[in-house]
Amino acid sequence: MYLKPKNLHEAVSALAASGGQILAGGTDFYPALGERLPQGDVVDITALGEIRGISADKDWFRIGGLTTWTDVIRAKLPRSFDALKAAAREVGSVQIQNRGTVAGNLCNASPAADGVPPLLALDAEVELSSAAETRRMPLSKFLTGNRKTMRRPDEILAAVLIPRGMDDAISTFLKLGARRYLVISISMVAAMVRPDETGCVAEARVAVGSCSATAQRLTGLEAALVGRPFKSGIAGAVKPEQLSVLSPIDDVRATAVYRRDASLTLVRRALEDCARSL
Ligand SMILES: Cc1cc2nc3c(=O)[nH]c(=O)nc-3n(C[C@H](O)[C@H](O)[C@H](O)COP(=O)(O)OP(=O)(O)OC[C@H]3O[C@@H](n4cnc5c(N)ncnc54)[C@H](O)[C@@H]3O)c2cc1C
Repeated sequence: MYLKPKNLHEAVSALAASGGQILAGGTDFYPALGERLPQGDVVDITALGEIRGISADKDWFRIGGLTTWTDVIRAKLPRSFDALKAAAREVGSVQIQNRGTVAGNLCNASPAADGVPPLLALDAEVELSSAAETRRMPLSKFLTGNRKTMRRPDEILAAVLIPRGMDDAISTFLKLGARRYLVISISMVAAMVRPDETGCVAEARVAVGSCSATAQRLTGLEAALVGRPFKSGIAGAVKPEQLSVLSPIDDVRATAVYRRDASLTLVRRALEDCARSL
């Protein structure tokens, strides 16, 4: 059965009753089906206007679960979101960005999901709603593996929440693919740096995607960057061993060795880009 609830309450009730699959923009949902028809009920959440759009209070930004990549690109957001906006512009094409949602990208949980590294760098959390409860968890805990998340079948990812406090941080996103457009990445990097009043790094966050089952923060590198002068040459602080948390694989797009090498270069470039745009 095809169900199209009009609000979140109806949607979580429909999910609880039907055990159906959620359909948002459909840009991962339909390609995954191939020639097959969906098995079981489909709960189309595209009428849930109440969970679309971006809002903010003094502590959090809230990206509603039906917010599209185009909505992200068009929203007025602080500098710390530059990486997420850059990633949004890399998701497929304009047509895909108009339909595809941030929440769909996270729930699909591809190792190559462009939204994940910038949202990890933003320390994002996810809000999961079901008929029984609303719960929250860090995005880093929500993503548990290749196409695996902590989402229960009766839950809708209702919002992505981003803590404030890094609003003025400088951020960037770099994606390497085999061609310039409409490409699944070989590696991608989101970097975010907040300088202190002396021009040194007060806080740094670096996340790498497509090089492990889920994108990873490079916490060793992040710690090593703190206190360093935030200026051209900062890439010299990046050592290959700080990328050892990555576990790239050989596949049709690249070898593991190439991915590791490319990631090192991308991390260095991303940090230099941040320093240049200070
Ligand atoms: C041609 C093409 C190019 C693409 N290029 C890229 C790319 O460059 N980078 C990239 O990262 N992705 C890319 N994608 C993948 C896709 O566009 C994105 O992952 C998109 O963000 C998915 O969002 P959606 O709303 O379409 O999700 P859907 O396809 O509707 O759903 C995806 C999965 O998430 C679940 N789901 C969706 N919303 C929710 C919710 N709110 N709560 C719980 N579960 C939910 C669905 O049940 C489904 O399992 C591409 C896809 C196509 C077809």
